[in-house]
Amino acid sequence: MKTLIREVTVITMQDNNEIIRDADVVVDGQTISYVGPQKLWEENFDRVINGQGKLLLPGFVNAHGHAAMTLFRSYADDLPLMDWLQKRIWPAEGKLKREDVYWGTMLAILEMIKCGTTTFTDMYFFMDQVAEAAEEAGIRAVLARGLIGVGETADKGLEESEQFVKTWQGRGNGRITTMLGPHAPYTCPPEFLRRVMLLQETLAVPTHIHLAETRDEVERINKEFGVSPTMLLKNIGLFERPVLAAHCVHLSEEDMEILKEYNVCVAHNPGSNLKLGSGIAPVPDLLSRGITVGLGTDGAASNNNLDMMEEMRLAALIHKGNRLDPTVIPARKALAMATRESAKAVFLEKVGIVAPEMKADIIMLDLQRPHLTPQHDLVAHLVYAAQPADITMVMINGQIILEKGQLTTLDEEKIIFQAQQRALHLVQ
Ligand SMILES: [Zn+2]
Repeated sequence: MKTLIREVTVITMQDNNEIIRDADVVVDGQTISYVGPQKLWEENFDRVINGQGKLLLPGFVNAHGHAAMTLFRSYADDLPLMDWLQKRIWPAEGKLKREDVYWGTMLAILEMIKCGTTTFTDMYFFMDQVAEAAEEAGIRAVLARGLIGVGETADKGLEESEQFVKTWQGRGNGRITTMLGPHAPYTCPPEFLRRVMLLQETLAVPTHIHLAETRDEVERINKEFGVSPTMLLKNIGLFERPVLAAHCVHLSEEDMEILKEYNVCVAHNPGSNLKLGSGIAPVPDLLSRGITVGLGTDGAASNNNLDMMEEMRLAALIHKGNRLDPTVIPARKALAMATRESAKAVFLEKVGIVAPEMKADIIMLDLQRPHLTPQHDLVAHLVYAAQPADITMVMINGQIILEKGQLTTLDEEKIIFQAQQRALHLVQ
């Protein structure tokens, strides 16, 4: 399948923030084969798409989340993290069955695709169902079986993780990749984390962990081990291999130096951190050290949507307000965090940039909208003004998944019906 998109404005997200107007983009199979000035093409294409008045860019990469938590959206709001987890979320999660996770994930995927997300990252359980949903939907996914290192399920979690990685790594034409997912330093004691590291050595996949999300976590770890959560993970040796650390809200200067030294990637989740009252991550300081920072939504129970455009806008706004400085996290940086940098953070090399040889994970937006007029700065528009409803096309791995509001792989009505029924049942 060879597709030509004609006369489109492209934000490539290459390092120089290149914008090409009236460009042609060619997708050959799963890959982009040409991006540049219009040409008189002599070859035949299977499909030609008119890109006039449209903006084309890499799809968003959601660097941290728990997809099936869509089932708990608006079930537990306005609570601190520990109350939220212990009193509301964990009891409800205890009732989850495989099929619930499948439909909750499908609901998440449906929402994410409509918001221009082409890759999502997930840490949860019943991960075979998550992977099945991703495979069927056609979305790219970076998946980890979430692990709690205490209690009866600790061993089972490790076994399931191994099985999951062996079964799913590279499936769905390479769209599915895997990680190991120890939940957090306060739920996974050092001896358990060492077992995760042993497994990681055999499987050679990265680790995804929550880190320094709340002040409470830092105090608890400090009390028990006499060091910060970041220092604890360093001392255990977890950072010797690739790690994606979600949140990183409460970090000392020393912690940030450790993240830099070990090339730990960070998933910044501004919406979730604000809603749970966790704080504001020191993202400008992480970026000034050259640490890779991607963006994530976290689960829909703590956000409450999976809209990367909103996350990008929050990332661009909260640090300005927090630092009393309108120059921190400019629009270009926020857009990079939602695309190219998020892809790096979840260890995907061929995603996040519109260029030849990259995977064809791209979205198109309609620029003929009142809130996108006039067009002085298209990147500023994307970050400060655009809405998911402006998205006209989503392509993942060369396959069109959404076109003119219509999904090509998913039955929207059925997913909403199933998710609604199951969610009500879980909280009864
Ligand atoms: Zn999370």
